[in-house]
Order: sequence, then C-alpha cells, then structure tokens
Amino acid sequence: MTPSGRRALVAANWKMHLLQAEAAAWCRTLRDELREVPGGGGPRAVVFPSFPLLPGVARELAGSAVEVGGQDLHPADQGAHTGDVSGAQLADAGCRWALCGHSERRRDHGESDELVARKAAAAGRHGLTPLICVGESAEERRAGQTFSVLERQVRAVFPGDEGRFGPFVLAYEPVWAIGTGETATPETAQEAHRFLRGLLVGIAGIGDSADGVSLLYGGSVTPENAAALSAQPDVDGFLVGGASLDPRRFLAIMRASG
Ligand code: PEP
Repeated sequence: MTPSGRRALVAANWKMHLLQAEAAAWCRTLRDELREVPGGGGPRAVVFPSFPLLPGVARELAGSAVEVGGQDLHPADQGAHTGDVSGAQLADAGCRWALCGHSERRRDHGESDELVARKAAAAGRHGLTPLICVGESAEERRAGQTFSVLERQVRAVFPGDEGRFGPFVLAYEPVWAIGTGETATPETAQEAHRFLRGLLVGIAGIGDSADGVSLLYGGSVTPENAAALSAQPDVDGFLVGGASLDPRRFLAIMRASG
C-alpha cells in the first residue's frame, strides 16, 4: 500500500527492446520471485512489451500477478490502417492495458492531445485500462508552463462535460526525466501529482472518486530512488522504462513501492 492507502501499481515499459527469448526469461524470473511472496501481496504490476512479444509474454504470465498491456493502439476499432494495432487485437493477445500518449510517441509520431484522447477512449471500448501519460518538456518547465501543459493534456482526455469515464490510470512523466538519469525530486513529483489529482477532482464524472485514481510517476526511476518517491502521498507507483529491462531491478522497484 502507498501512504494514502491506495494499492501501488508498478508498470514496465520495455519500449523497443528485448527479443522473444529474453522476454520469456524476464517473465520466468518475475513469476518465480513473486511466487515466493507470501500471500502474493505487494503492488500490482503490468508489463508493456512491443507488439510481436505480446502473445508470448501473455502466455508466460498467465495465472501470475503480472498483467500485460500494449504500448499503443489505433483509435479506430478496425480498418485500413497499415502497421497499426487495434484495441480488439490487444485484448485478443491477452492485454488488459494500453499505454496512451507516451512522450516518445508524441515526439516520434506527432501524437496530439486530441489523438491521445481518442486512443484512451478506444482502449476503454475494448475493456483495456488506459495508462495515460502526461508531462512537460524541459523548456516548458523553465518557462513556468508545467501546470498549464498538464492541464491542457488532461483536459483533452477528459473534456469535462460528458459524464462518466471508465477506469484509467494517469502517469506524470516529465519529458526531461525520461531516459536521462535526471529523476524528479520527490517534492517536484508530489507537487505535480497533487496538481493532477486536484484537476481530476474538478472534472465532471470523476469528482470525489479522483481520490481512488492511481497517479504514477515516470522518469529515470531506479531501485535507489523509488522508496523516497513512493513515500509521497500522491505518488501511487511508477512507470519504469530503462530499469524495467532487468527483472531484478524491476522487482526491487516493486518492493520499494509499498
Ligand atoms: C518511460 O519509458 O516511460 C520511462 C519513464 O523511461 P525511463 O524509466 O527509462 O526514464
């Protein structure tokens, strides 16, 4: 549990790394180690492999405490979209989650706030929980725009006037911290998370239940810095890139997360 009483969630984003045999070995290590935890307690875990790895990873992790998600999905349910993957295909491959709006997709593929919103909605239509990423760049932070950028990104996904939303998780991932080794301080992360939770409280259809929304921090999380970050009252877990490729480092982050 986190200090707030919410159950921690730790997600592994493998990005464009690992081949099938490496992925299978990762899954076996995690399964074996988690089996040793009495009662199977501790944080929830999700892994986001590249698309070709999904069926194998889902098979390896079936029956374990670790769920599987896709790193992206197309906003349409099916159709002529060469190279893309639908929410239905992710669900069929054993996914329960979909990553939406990671900053590397916003950067590499020009994904707009509006497209991220449509992807999150598509995930919900297929029974996938969207893990929606938001975060400011270094320039935006220097210019004092952090909160306005976060507000713009969140309001695009939850315009505020159409009632209820399905389950979702939000990840605060400052772009300047992703893959750079420059982690946000616990105070900086908490400030952004508190702002995001306040924003969600004000959005129609979420209201008081924002208290139950998991807010993850992502950006150069390691076994060494995870405990101090997760001690913050609004940090409910992590989205981990680089350090998640080593299953033992990922497990150490899980254990530091409450
Ligand atoms: C990420 O990929 O979402 C991420 C936070 O990467 P890293 O942990 O490597 O900074």
